[in-house]
Amino acid sequence: LLPVGAFIAAFIVGIVVWLSRKRLEPRAELALAVQNREFVVHYQPIVALATGICVGAEALVRWRRPDGTLVRPDLFIPLAEETGLIMPITDQVIDAVIADLGSTLVADRTLHIAVNLSAADISSGRFLDVVARKLAPTGIRPEQLWLEATERGFIDIEAARVNLARARQAGHSVAIDDFGTGYSSLQYLEGLPMDALKIDKSFIDTVGKDTATSSVTLHIIDMARELGLFTVAEGIETAEQAEYLKARGVDFGQGWLFAKPLPPTEFAAYHERSRRI
Ligand code: C2E
Ligand code: CA
Ligand code: CA
Ligand code: CA
Repeated sequence: LLPVGAFIAAFIVGIVVWLSRKRLEPRAELALAVQNREFVVHYQPIVALATGICVGAEALVRWRRPDGTLVRPDLFIPLAEETGLIMPITDQVIDAVIADLGSTLVADRTLHIAVNLSAADISSGRFLDVVARKLAPTGIRPEQLWLEATERGFIDIEAARVNLARARQAGHSVAIDDFGTGYSSLQYLEGLPMDALKIDKSFIDTVGKDTATSSVTLHIIDMARELGLFTVAEGIETAEQAEYLKARGVDFGQGWLFAKPLPPTEFAAYHERSRRI
């Protein structure tokens, strides 16, 4: 009789927990997820187009709900940005990178991981101290941590200038993400401390097909070269796209052609295989 009673009690507790979660507002639910550290990171390989070697990865956050389902970032990042919860989420992403890949990053000093920053991160600059404090005991070089900032992150352009310059001074590389999708003429970005441009997937989709978009892509590649910036093409799905971009001197590529975002152990295995070829 005792096990049956325990089973019923557990069942009732389960129902109550489930109901109380169900009734939470999305904002409260996200706050609880932050408190319970429900965020995990997947890693999408970044390869050198010239050699096919994996040189790093982009850290892409997912929300793992208690029932095990993974929620895509575009479904909760906007709310996190509105509510200020994005900053503790950025912290958890940095923690995850160190926990998941710390030993891999120390074993391969050339490997880099790119972390996405939101406007609140960039204008507050708070991540700089967090990163410095967290990297110090690990032996991971600051050069191995890249930071991705979109134009949406430059709401306070002066603060962005200052904090991205501090990031570069600390050794990190700064990549401008989703390049070409916003208003940014390069004049606007000129003088922003940066090392790389990430060409948005929407341009890569039409590479070699749509002449108008293709010429924009070529223009971005030329500008980047003149400014001495690395170029990274995201969303590469076909070998033709990769060939086209490689022929035009794009340095790095990322996309399903190479790999989807992978859980940490799968990424470590992918990186290991890529080094052996
Ligand atoms: P993003 O920074 O532009 O990241 C690239 C997105 O394109 C990722 O979606 C990735 O899975 C997807 N992708 C990459 N290659 C391909 C491809 O070949 N084909 C297709 N169809 N898709 C591809 P994901 O992981 O869903 O992330 C969506 C967005 O959420 C990111 O866009 C980024 O803006 C945001 N995000 C992700 N992680 C973080 C984070 O830790 N912090 C912040 N602030 N934002 C994040
Ligand atoms: Ca990104
Ligand atoms: Ca991007
Ligand atoms: Ca994008």
